[in-house]
Amino acid sequence: MRLLADLHTHTIASGHAYSTVTELADAAVAKGLELIAVIDHGPSVPGAPHPWHFWNMKVVPSVYNGLRILKGVEANPSPHSENGIDLPDMLLELLDFVSVGFHPLIGFYEPVICRNTDAILRVLENPYVDMIVHPGNGDFPIRIDEFVASAAANNVIIEINNHSFDPNGSRSGSSDRELEIAAAALAVGAPIAIGSDAHYHLHVGRFEAAIEASRSIGLTQGRVVNRSARAVLEHLEARRPRPRLDFGGEVFTLDFRRKGSEGGDS
Ligand SMILES: [Zn+2]
Ligand SMILES: [Zn+2]
Repeated sequence: MRLLADLHTHTIASGHAYSTVTELADAAVAKGLELIAVIDHGPSVPGAPHPWHFWNMKVVPSVYNGLRILKGVEANPSPHSENGIDLPDMLLELLDFVSVGFHPLIGFYEPVICRNTDAILRVLENPYVDMIVHPGNGDFPIRIDEFVASAAANNVIIEINNHSFDPNGSRSGSSDRELEIAAAALAVGAPIAIGSDAHYHLHVGRFEAAIEASRSIGLTQGRVVNRSARAVLEHLEARRPRPRLDFGGEVFTLDFRRKGSEGGDS
């Protein structure tokens, strides 16, 4: 399986990641990727940026050395906010890509399956939400059948997070549950993506552990939304308008040579 888009990358803005947008993009270009989504953590994660960070992402180029950059967020369920998410709908609407997932220290201190499930079902109903990340997180169990049925009905992507299959990762105990959810998603026809969850630029496009694990559930490339930039963009644009998708324009670095441009296109 070869996947040309990475929908889950972090920059220094997340507070516990160590590369810039430019470093992520350069690494993605070097790996031959066609698209990345930059999704720094939503404001309720300690060290994450202020909501203004997400509003101003329009300054980042939408195309960099031929690489498509989606400007997004990895937001959090938020029990006390108006929309059940830690960023308001008026900001989510402006982003190219909205993902949501449970994280430590965001206000869900007890692993209560009913409360987690209710919170994530509410998130799935939000029309601006495109993907639920690392749903197998053992600290935040959810009822799988209701979760995948709602994801399928709302056409929301369920992520298989490569980091969840890393024996040294912070969610190393999540792999069985993440696979169980992916298998259920596959069975009900919910969209699926594999994300690297890179917190350092050399980890962009790393999907190997998740791809290897997904063999056991019969996941094929054709069922993975992030197989190509085209598949991602077609999926997203079919769901709702993306008002800022082309904001920020096209940027080439000085040593960039466009193929076939020697003929002098003006
Ligand atoms: Zn996360
Ligand atoms: Zn992440």
